[in-house]
Amino acid sequence: MNPWHTAQKQLAKANEHSTHSARLHERLSSPDRVIEVSLPVAMDDGSMRTFTGFRVQHNNLRGPYKGGLRFHPQVDMDEVKALSFWMTMKTAVVDVPFGGGKGGVVVNPKELSENELEQLSRAFARALAPNIGPEIDVPAPDVNTTPKIMGWMRDEYEKVIGSPSPAVITGKEIAQGGSQGRTEATGFGGYYVLDQVFKQLGDNTRGKRVAIQGFGNVATYLAQSLVADGYCVVALSDSKGGIYLESGFTDIAAVEAHKRSTGALSLFPGTTSITNDEILTLPVDIVVPAALENAITDHVANSIRATIVLEMANGPTTHDADEILKERGVIVVPDILANAGGVATSYFEWYQNMHGEQWEKDVVLTKLEEKMRTATCAVYETAKAKSVSLREGAYLVALRHLEEAQKNSAN
Ligand code: NAD
Repeated sequence: MNPWHTAQKQLAKANEHSTHSARLHERLSSPDRVIEVSLPVAMDDGSMRTFTGFRVQHNNLRGPYKGGLRFHPQVDMDEVKALSFWMTMKTAVVDVPFGGGKGGVVVNPKELSENELEQLSRAFARALAPNIGPEIDVPAPDVNTTPKIMGWMRDEYEKVIGSPSPAVITGKEIAQGGSQGRTEATGFGGYYVLDQVFKQLGDNTRGKRVAIQGFGNVATYLAQSLVADGYCVVALSDSKGGIYLESGFTDIAAVEAHKRSTGALSLFPGTTSITNDEILTLPVDIVVPAALENAITDHVANSIRATIVLEMANGPTTHDADEILKERGVIVVPDILANAGGVATSYFEWYQNMHGEQWEKDVVLTKLEEKMRTATCAVYETAKAKSVSLREGAYLVALRHLEEAQKNSAN
């Protein structure tokens, strides 16, 4: 399934329940600007290799374009367009003064040396420099891009414009102007959202069993907070496959250390191996796709046994699968709410950079928790009032905020 088509169908679906104007619908149906760049990089062996990079600026009705940069071999324009559209919706749901953008480079970063990765990141920053800036478009990390990469890109951008500009990019290392709490933010944010959903449902979370696909940055911090709060995380996976532990993982840091030292999750002591499809259909209460798009197809949707899907990845559920889950009474906590903790904290980072401030970690996390719980309540109440899914509820909240912004703008 083409993610851009999924995004368009979601917008059309929300339209059925919304009173937002045709003018807004038209504006959101296509991105404001699409940028494709060629990035020549000198490789360590002396050869030159040219990579393709994209940046899509979807919408800036509510503020500068905002969204991550992904380094992955399967990056393509339709994927980046969809991801930029979801950023417009996400920043509006969680009510931060940004629009939506996204970017990526077609590359397998695991095949590059550290020096080649730095040269590629710097080439991308140079190519994007005329179109980004703290009040224009503010990139951030995504799949396979790290705080270190954000630091290289900030540095290169500053070389081009000739002055310091820490707020041009978020998700930087602390020493480079990053915010406390940004690394943990998306995972922790997902935990606050899930906890608030259970509060709204009047359900107890203790001992609820969870399976998580995609043990990267987002999943690690989500798993940590779930375990700390008494959930039973029984399965984790990465691109090479998954591991299952009937009694639940108690030490997520130990799993992370094992993955770091061996390069994979497999053979973590006491676990059995499972595949990435099996992980989504385990008999658990909550299943969490936290890797890439299109993980939950209609085939998977028919086999899911969990009652809640927490979408930590962007666009993990195809449109048809979403319809199946709705019919089957599975609650889907949508990506544009569940994983919005990252962009909320990116906003805090941008704000600190713009005002020369540095907040303590507990200040950042308290603000994050408040933002995520407030957004979750708004989505839940809207969905309940309109008798629609949480995804449609989230779109309705976002469209309401976008409509308000459009009324105050010339576009
Ligand atoms: P990451 O690169 O740190 O981790 C991705 C993980 O997914 C890795 O463990 C990788 O091995 C695994 N993976 C890749 N392909 C897989 C597959 N087919 N099956 C199972 N696992 C697979 O990335 P991340 O930052 O954790 O992002 C994960 C998802 O969350 C992405 O969809 C991203 O767009 C979304 N997201 C990230 C942030 C953020 O702040 N990092 C914010 C919002 C949304």
